[in-house]
Formats: sequence, C-alpha cells, structure tokens
Amino acid sequence: MLIKCIPVGNMEANCYVVTDEETLRCAIIDPGDESNVILDYIEDTKLKPEAVFLTHGHFDHTGAADVVAEETGAPIWINKADTVPKGKLEMYRFQAPAGTLFYCDGDTVDIGGLHFRVMETPGHSRGSVTLRCEDALFTGDTLFQGSCGRTDLPGGDMDMLMLSLRRLGELPGDFEIWPGHMDPSRMSVEKTVNQYLRYAMGL
Ligand SMILES: [Zn+2]
Repeated sequence: MLIKCIPVGNMEANCYVVTDEETLRCAIIDPGDESNVILDYIEDTKLKPEAVFLTHGHFDHTGAADVVAEETGAPIWINKADTVPKGKLEMYRFQAPAGTLFYCDGDTVDIGGLHFRVMETPGHSRGSVTLRCEDALFTGDTLFQGSCGRTDLPGGDMDMLMLSLRRLGELPGDFEIWPGHMDPSRMSVEKTVNQYLRYAMGL
C-alpha cells in the first residue's frame, strides 16, 4: 500500500491517494480542492482510480469530488447522513450527484488487493466515517495529531465524538493515523499525548 498525501485548498485538507502497488488501482480520499494537482499525480503515476472516498461532507474535503470523479470515472462514496440532494446549496453537507454510492458502518470496499473497512465515527459531523485499511486509519476530521475535530458546526456533537474517539482507540493493535488536516501520527502515540482521546478512553 502506497499512501500519497496532497494537502489541498485554503484549509489545507489532506487528500490521500492510496494505491495497491501490485495493480496500480487506487482510491482517492477527500479531494477537497485543486483537482488539477490530484489528477496530475494520478496521470503521472499511471494509476487507475476506482473510488473517491469522502470521510465527511464538509466543503474543504469534498470540493473537487465531482470533477475528480468525472475525470477518472471512479464513483463517489460517502455516508448518506452527510449529504443533501444535488442543487440544495449547503457548505457542510455534500450535494451528492447521481451515481453517488453510500457506505455505512461495517461495509468493505475493495480496491485491488486493498480492503477499506468503513467505521461510522460521528461527532465532527453526523455522517463522519473513518476508513481502515491494513494498519492505516484515515480519520478525516474525527482524530488529529494531538487533537480532534470541532463540534460547533451543524451536525456536530461532542458526546458522539467522544464515543467515536473511544471506539477508534479501542481497536486492537496499533495503527497509523492519517488525519484530514495536519501531520500523520500513530495510535500508540496519541494514546499518550492526545488529551481528547485520553479523556474519551478514560485514561
Ligand atoms: Zn470537517
């Protein structure tokens, strides 16, 4: 598994291109902006995109999803709770175009030899998910290095976020954390330094 991080847009959301190196099939997670930069990377490395995964519906994570999906032919996946019908203007929920696929807790989407497991981790938004693939967690705005997502936007809920953080922290084993903003981390590190995660887990 090869993970390429491309920070995009004014909010510097992390777009990840996750590739199965055997087949060059890849998933594009959170193409929030700068579709040209993302598409250039895909083209330069001759990857075959098979999915656009959205961790949640906020505009800084979804802004280029339509264009990237159209240009690559890969379908968009998102949790339905973070969507509105196309044409309904909203900043914090995604206007899902026709053909959008909806994933929910427990679903697995295969990209070549990679298996992306969906965990619903609400709190930052109602439809936030964490994608788990091998020993990597793509946490969106649920869990950051040393912090967690805000809960003051529509659909945010601090109690739910704490339950979600706890669920992530209680996954067996150690995981790389690939968050929606800022630098990556590891769960073992976050359990010692991240006060939000520690509080959620009763540590
Ligand atoms: Zn967000």
